[in-house]
Amino acid sequence: MSPIRERSQYFARHASVHGVGNEGLEKLRNARVVVVGCGGVGSAAADYLARSGIGYLRLIDQDIVDVSNLHRLHGASVGDVYQPKAEVIANTLSRNMPWLKVQAIVDTVRGATAEDLLGGVDLIVDGLDNFRTRYVLNNYSIRARVPYLFTSAIANQGHAALFQPPNNACLECIFPSLVSSPNESCESLGVTSSVVTTIGAIAANEAVKFLLGQTSRLAGSLLTLDLDGPDFIFSTLSK
Ligand SMILES: [Zn+2]
Repeated sequence: MSPIRERSQYFARHASVHGVGNEGLEKLRNARVVVVGCGGVGSAAADYLARSGIGYLRLIDQDIVDVSNLHRLHGASVGDVYQPKAEVIANTLSRNMPWLKVQAIVDTVRGATAEDLLGGVDLIVDGLDNFRTRYVLNNYSIRARVPYLFTSAIANQGHAALFQPPNNACLECIFPSLVSSPNESCESLGVTSSVVTTIGAIAANEAVKFLLGQTSRLAGSLLTLDLDGPDFIFSTLSK
């Protein structure tokens, strides 16, 4: 069976969803998305983006897989410990979906490398755990006018928002000059596999909606997800 035929069979149920169809599946095949940060949220987002039929994924992460990451990492298993996260996840995705073009970059995005690492994509998905790099993504997004899907997760809570410069608020409008504190990291407060997977899946779903030209409630508002409720809270964002 040809890979093209396998692809259409693989995504048959996805294509049947209202608003997707074969036309939507074709749009997604031509879409290019970068996922920056391949921890819990980023790996879940990459997994669901690939499972939604995105044709090209670029995965960027400088870190290696640690045993303490495994409970929440999609696409990594015990045998992958000490291997670069981006490469491990890229290999898993291309093994399961041979039609997917996936590129792994073991690096950190900095101001000087943003153009090289983030160029040529339709959307930036943030799977990061620090605001220093998030501001680099935000600046690039404003400069290049590439939409930026912000996410974060800690303990049993998560956030997501879609920034579409110059139309709506950006990351610095809502979180000006934040410094990631070690007291509020996954190491100190922990993080559940449920929250990273939920936020990653929401990010992938919103990315797909954006790429299909559909409207998203995350454009112009910040979603706070608290799985302790569970509660879904939307805050309207202004520039
Ligand atoms: Zn702004």
